[in-house]
Amino acid sequence: IIEGIDVHKRYGAFHALKGVTARFYPGEVTAILGPSGSGKSTFLRMLNRLEKHDAGQIFIDGIELNDDPKHLAAIRREVGMVFQNFNLFTHLTVLRNVALAPMRIRKVARKAAETRAMALLERVGLADHAHKYPIQLSGGQQQRVAIARALAMDPKVLLFDEPTSALDPEMVNEVLTVMRELAHTGITMLVVTHEMGFAREVADRVLFFDQGSILEDTTPDRFFNDPAHERARAFLAQVK
Ligand code: ATP
Ligand code: MG
Repeated sequence: IIEGIDVHKRYGAFHALKGVTARFYPGEVTAILGPSGSGKSTFLRMLNRLEKHDAGQIFIDGIELNDDPKHLAAIRREVGMVFQNFNLFTHLTVLRNVALAPMRIRKVARKAAETRAMALLERVGLADHAHKYPIQLSGGQQQRVAIARALAMDPKVLLFDEPTSALDPEMVNEVLTVMRELAHTGITMLVVTHEMGFAREVADRVLFFDQGSILEDTTPDRFFNDPAHERARAFLAQVK
């Protein structure tokens, strides 16, 4: 479903992704691990065209990511993203945040969009907060709204970039619980995370990035118990 072939990204002279090749299959949950600066966010942002790759190819469901605006529109519909800092619209209620993209992009009527938004808020445990503004919610609640908002477009793929890193520790679990439930619904998930418990228990697969390359692409079991590379061992020793 997602295919990256020899993908490169440079920021000026800095080579941030040095030829990344990976395929992700429908329903697969992949944890993306690695030290700071190893290119994890760059890779994720590339998959949704928040950044352009400058060599190699990326296909989402057979559609190539390039400068064709039709391709971009198709990809934006299929790929949702959840960010570290929620990125909710502060001037809109929770319900409107979730209903907005289907109305604007899919041209769904407001009533239908809000009914669906309400069902999604129910699913992330926030139906009671639908008419509040983001600032009135805790970080964990805001992140759950962001997940509901991403789901509102019915994406095939959800990208998460450190979704729990900005949260106070007591709120991490409520977000991980929602993600764990999602993982069982058949949606394809790529999750950059420092939550080793999530990677170990929920992910089908672990990618370990180091210095702009994928150093390991394996099962959680292998990665945590018997990583092939010294760098992965050093990383695990630090985060454990
Ligand atoms: P972290 O765990 O800290 O989030 P990461 O693995 O997500 O790290 P990236 O954000 O992908 O790392 O960054 C990879 C490298 O590219 C870093 O060295 C970073 O400084 C550099 N980089 C990222 N974005 C830009 C940019 N817009 N301009 C210049 N350099 C950038
Ligand atoms: Mg990052």
